[in-house]
Amino acid sequence: MRKILTIIFGLFIIFVMSTAVYGAEGDVRIGLEKNCKNVSQITVGNKEIRVGIGDNNKYRANIGTYVIKPVGNTYYNTEEYNTTYEGAKAVLSKYTGTSCIPVLDDKGWTLYVRADSAKLDKPVVKTGANCVGFAVDGKYKFIVNGSRPCRIMAEDGILNIGNDRYRGDIEFYRQGSVITAVNVLPVDKYLYGVVTSEMPSSWSFEALKAQAVAARTYVERNRSRHGEYDLCDTVHCQAYYGVMKESESGIKAVDQTSGKEIYFNGELVDAVYFSSDGGATFNSEDVWSSSTPYLKAVKDTHEKEYREWTRTFTYSELTNICAANGYGIGNVVSVSAQYTDEDLVSSLTFKGSKGNKTVYKDEIRSAFHPSGEGGLLSRNFRIIGGAVTEGDKVYVIGTEGQDTKTYTGISATNGEGKQGKIGSKFVIMNNRDSETIVASVTTVGTPGTVTFEGKGYGHGVGMSQYGAKAMAEEGYGYEDILKFYYKDVEIK
Ligand SMILES: [Zn+2]
Repeated sequence: MRKILTIIFGLFIIFVMSTAVYGAEGDVRIGLEKNCKNVSQITVGNKEIRVGIGDNNKYRANIGTYVIKPVGNTYYNTEEYNTTYEGAKAVLSKYTGTSCIPVLDDKGWTLYVRADSAKLDKPVVKTGANCVGFAVDGKYKFIVNGSRPCRIMAEDGILNIGNDRYRGDIEFYRQGSVITAVNVLPVDKYLYGVVTSEMPSSWSFEALKAQAVAARTYVERNRSRHGEYDLCDTVHCQAYYGVMKESESGIKAVDQTSGKEIYFNGELVDAVYFSSDGGATFNSEDVWSSSTPYLKAVKDTHEKEYREWTRTFTYSELTNICAANGYGIGNVVSVSAQYTDEDLVSSLTFKGSKGNKTVYKDEIRSAFHPSGEGGLLSRNFRIIGGAVTEGDKVYVIGTEGQDTKTYTGISATNGEGKQGKIGSKFVIMNNRDSETIVASVTTVGTPGTVTFEGKGYGHGVGMSQYGAKAMAEEGYGYEDILKFYYKDVEIK
């Protein structure tokens, strides 16, 4: 019994120790997808770093600028363990004439000898799934072969990764021949880099504070969104450029709201936000699948500046877009929008030679991704041209945008006397003489194209950043701003 208790106590101590070592609770893990996702190598420009395995103690390694790459080889482990890289290097002279390299593994620094360069009476090691090498001028200085991913930190606190700079630690996740860098750091240090990546540092301070609180709430709600890491560094999660986009005002906004988060009924909210609403936001269920009590449409009387945008497509581009989405409607002959009471687009209908397709919610924007330019920027738009055929009716639209003529049941006769329904282009006979007016379906804008003219930018649910800016300029505090865009919430 006593033995069992001792074992249990021992396991408890190990548990406490393993959670107490480096890697403070509350650290967030950010996948650096923009520049360091599944790449063959990553350059680190710090002269002095510490290197470790997972959140274990780290060892100093001063080797200059190096390149980190996956390594796969078979070695003998000399098993002469040291506590420093230099110690492992000092053993090298004992193995002259062989190909050998210092290695950090789970037990500390040792020396590996390539199995194809010598025959030793030592254990054979095949490098594991986490193994990466640190190369200078194309030559490996050491490798890290642990049971968990290799992790580095800078002696001066800021790591230079490629052309970017990051606070905290970086871990290297290997997938066969490629690696992904994951930035591990305290939430507020991460937020230093987010606030003014998401919002210009020159904006009113209360808007920056609202952004800091929304971003902090977003992190805590969305941990483990990516599996191996919590969040990515793109707008898929939150834009993050590390130290490069930090600013004095952004850091101050994070510090002055430290620990503040947004709650609804005692639970963290899904603090979604976007750039600009152009006049109104959406209910969450109008964009995504589910209804959320605090993500309700608000008429935004504050936002005054907003992004205006236009996108023009030819009918063949629209046909390609619909085909790429698998709509199966043949050649697109028109596209029309249906609107909510706030004049936002509630659905969009493509009419094609083989049928129609109506899309709803966020697909109204994302349907346009196959064009290679991303989706429509917002659902606050009107369509110019294009929507001129409906059933067997044809509308002729004048240059001022109004209907000038409406024809029903039109068909065309070809040169062989055969009749058929007209397509996207048709010819109207002038009634005065035999002269013809050639009219394409679109008589407003560029002939043969459809133009979307919109306001706002983003999915339209939650906080509008341009709206927050406007409210801050009107003198509202960050809590007022958050409570305007998230219904019935508490900030604590
Ligand atoms: Zn993401």
